[in-house]
Amino acid sequence: MNTEILWKSVLEEIKINVSKAIFQTLFQNTCLVSLQNNVATIGCPSSYIQGLIESRYYSLIKDVLDRQTKNNNSLVFTVKFTPKKTENIGPLFTPECQPPSKNLPSGLNPFYTFENFAVSSVNQLPYAAATAVAKNPGTAYNPLFLWGGVGVGKTHLMQAIAHQIIKDKPQTKIIYCVGEEFTNEIINAIRSKTTDIFKKKYRLADVLLLDDVQFIAGKTTVQEEFFHTFNALQKENKQIVLTSDRPPEEIAKLEDRLRSRFEGGLIIDIPQPDFELRTAILLIKAKQKGIDLDMKIAQIIAANIDSTRKLEGFLVRLMSEIQTKNIPLTQELVNTLLGKSLDESGKQRKQIKPNQIIEAVAQYYNLKPAQLKSSTRVKNIAFPRQILMYLLRTELGIPLMEVGNLLGGRDHTTVIHGVEKITNLLSSNEELRVDISGIKQKVNQQI
Ligand code: ADP
Ligand code: MG
Repeated sequence: MNTEILWKSVLEEIKINVSKAIFQTLFQNTCLVSLQNNVATIGCPSSYIQGLIESRYYSLIKDVLDRQTKNNNSLVFTVKFTPKKTENIGPLFTPECQPPSKNLPSGLNPFYTFENFAVSSVNQLPYAAATAVAKNPGTAYNPLFLWGGVGVGKTHLMQAIAHQIIKDKPQTKIIYCVGEEFTNEIINAIRSKTTDIFKKKYRLADVLLLDDVQFIAGKTTVQEEFFHTFNALQKENKQIVLTSDRPPEEIAKLEDRLRSRFEGGLIIDIPQPDFELRTAILLIKAKQKGIDLDMKIAQIIAANIDSTRKLEGFLVRLMSEIQTKNIPLTQELVNTLLGKSLDESGKQRKQIKPNQIIEAVAQYYNLKPAQLKSSTRVKNIAFPRQILMYLLRTELGIPLMEVGNLLGGRDHTTVIHGVEKITNLLSSNEELRVDISGIKQKVNQQI
């Protein structure tokens, strides 16, 4: 779909959701600079407006755009002043955006660079491999196959390679493509008998980045075509980088000959980020968004949110809260917001029963469930009890009163105190983090 028409229709929907004044001051002069590979670059007339839109209306825009495109898009904001040509009151929406002047291959997120990539012992290896490939494309490791779970930074690292190569050699032809789109492109090419154009395009690349390659599994013609492209590029020492949510041997219905091609290069997994890495990622993201996040607060957030994607969502919420209510960024605010978001994620995990968590905590500390529910305040029972309160809240989203009832009729303020204590302690206490993940493992073993 044409970006102009798409944006017009997104704005129509946004208009219904915000006040007239907000719409006119914030949205009227925005435009969709590009929408490629599910990255929507949105142009805002000034950095001030960009900040406001990004912090307050990120999820609104994303919801509307996702619905209209039936895709899961990420949003990137940029300053793009588009003065109206005439003063006439023409149609409200006349985006006059040009594609970004920087000559980036389509689909690249400008933030996904090596500079913005946090490195720790956890992801040192994939980082080193990616930088080696960026330094010597086509010769270091070919293909480079990065795999790992959601949000571990596969796309970021893959795109960082592209950014680095463009910086070093701007003339390099780089194609970045997501497996799903690659598949659609091949299918359309076959349908419209334009496979030649397709072949030419891909075989002219100096660097081919195929993100989420697992999508091509099970699609014979797509794999066939990719196999030939792969061979043609590799023969000429053109760099190929692939990402997947699992290693080649676990991609079901992947042709053996492709699998062995993938295995001929370097296969590296990116593990889930640990607490230190999440803290570092959070600090980078906060800086990008212009939020002055102090270390202690970053640690509290990172200790309580496991997923990198949720970390970013949390920052956006935090920013919105500060700006709309004009309040300072304090630990209390963070705790309140954490409580809310933990509540929500807890609600999605309803299949776990409170008793399973009570049982797991009791087992972990060699106690009986009855002791956890009793009135005793001896430390070796009271502390596991507070952990239990935290887990009942965060894992199941159980209301405070109910947590109190489950634990022998305790007052909800006692529960608040317990949950806050653990939330804050997690940021500084490695042992506690290990204990909590051990308990979670026990719970997961039960279901
Ligand atoms: P994946 O492709 O593995 O699902 P992404 O690359 O999309 O994950 O990463 C999800 C989010 O987390 C992105 O905003 C990305 O910038 C961020 N992220 C993940 N790992 C890192 C890291 N090591 N340093 C900085 N940001 C990271
Ligand atoms: Mg990805």
